[in-house]
Amino acid sequence: MRRSDLAEPRFGRREFVATLGAAALSACATKSGGPSIGRVVVVGGGFGGATAARYLKLWGGNVDVTLVERNAAFVSCPLSNLVVGGQRALGDITRGYEGLQAVGVKRVQGEAVAVDVAARKLRLAGGTELPFDRLVVAPGIDFQFDEVGGLEAALDAGQVTHAWKAGPQTAALRRQLESMADGGVVAITIPRAPYRCPPGPYERACLIAAYLQRAKPRSKLLLLDANPEIQSKRALFERAFEERYRGLVEYRPNAELREVEGRLAKLEFEDVRADVLNVIPPQRAGDLARQAGLMTINRRWCGVDWLTMESTAAPGVHVLGDAVFPAALMPKSAHMANQQAKLAAAAIVQLLEGEAVNPAPMLANTCYSFVSADEAMHVTTVHRYDPAEKTFKTVPGSGGLSAAPNAAEGRYALDWAQNIWADSLAL
Ligand SMILES: Cc1cc2nc3c(=O)[nH]c(=O)nc-3n(C[C@H](O)[C@H](O)[C@H](O)COP(=O)(O)OP(=O)(O)OC[C@H]3O[C@@H](n4cnc5c(N)ncnc54)[C@H](O)[C@@H]3O)c2cc1C
Repeated sequence: MRRSDLAEPRFGRREFVATLGAAALSACATKSGGPSIGRVVVVGGGFGGATAARYLKLWGGNVDVTLVERNAAFVSCPLSNLVVGGQRALGDITRGYEGLQAVGVKRVQGEAVAVDVAARKLRLAGGTELPFDRLVVAPGIDFQFDEVGGLEAALDAGQVTHAWKAGPQTAALRRQLESMADGGVVAITIPRAPYRCPPGPYERACLIAAYLQRAKPRSKLLLLDANPEIQSKRALFERAFEERYRGLVEYRPNAELREVEGRLAKLEFEDVRADVLNVIPPQRAGDLARQAGLMTINRRWCGVDWLTMESTAAPGVHVLGDAVFPAALMPKSAHMANQQAKLAAAAIVQLLEGEAVNPAPMLANTCYSFVSADEAMHVTTVHRYDPAEKTFKTVPGSGGLSAAPNAAEGRYALDWAQNIWADSLAL
């Protein structure tokens, strides 16, 4: 493949999401016409699956691509903390799948329930079977309810929210914050890493605190972290809690949640009663990965061959995004899911064509976090495949971190979201 063969998505100066991915990977020329070179079924229309479906069409052209997603619309986790904080509405972070259909992706709204790896068939709830030459599994995360007693019942009863999958849960947490009286206690519990979006809980604390400071100043926010310290942008978040939200936010490390009783959080060493209890549950790869026998690492995450994202347990099945056991310093992020999807799409087209895959892929990640309605900060990393160790490693001297949150980065963060939605969903 030649670099000049790259199909160019519509992006501007700062929109490096697609271009980095495209430049970093050995991409394929757009192909169209002629008989289908293969059937690829993609499960999950989130950041990983949607991007894979789009780029399989963009780079494969005559690959037959079917996307199976349970939800009617895409709701973004990135920026969903702004909805929790009341700075944005759910409609602002919701998008449709029409763009993907317009580029030739067949969309099936349904629940994938079983994979027959040997027969190369995916079964949907209701019994429909979809045959595939290659399957992409990008189901995101599901929760380990057995790790926290009473949690599933409290969530079902609506006493507690997780809001760690954007949608109705995000709206429910917002409603609870609005209903809380001034002087109330909000508690957020954070599970042990690895979990989806390392800086996400601390961003959420800042945005809820910004709301409370303005609307309910006598209230308190407890951030109960199972980890020994803040997991991302530590010094920057510590400063935000100390300087912007002093007296309002209290951060407690080594505070692992064991059990939930209504809005009582039972931690390892103390019990905390909250008026609004937001539990971010311990996580693992999505249910379909477990059903298909793809969860090879710690019975939680999926091992992959990093050159193709093909499962180490199931030939012909590629796994992407949060469901994957990460390489060192690789976050579970939308940006990373989007990058892995491009790597997989390029590799799948090459495998279907009988060509060699790129032996030296690179991936990059940027995560923005808001600390107030309009100020954000970022962290970036660059990851290069190491053929000796068959994994990705960060490139020495690459990456970076904001010196301080600021309004310009707040605007970049909003632009980043618009661009990654456009890139993933072909908008
Ligand atoms: C509050 C919050 C803030 C975040 N902020 C950022 C950020 O600023 N930047 C960033 O890069 N990342 C951020 N993230 C992380 C990001 O959202 C995830 O890393 C990303 O969504 C992972 O993509 P994915 O494709 O693996 O999973 P998802 O995006 O969750 O997609 C999985 C999809 O699969 C579907 N699905 C699952 N199982 C089935 C099935 N059996 N049948 C049919 N459909 C199925 C689901 O409905 C879902 O649509 C944030 C996360 C949270 C919770």
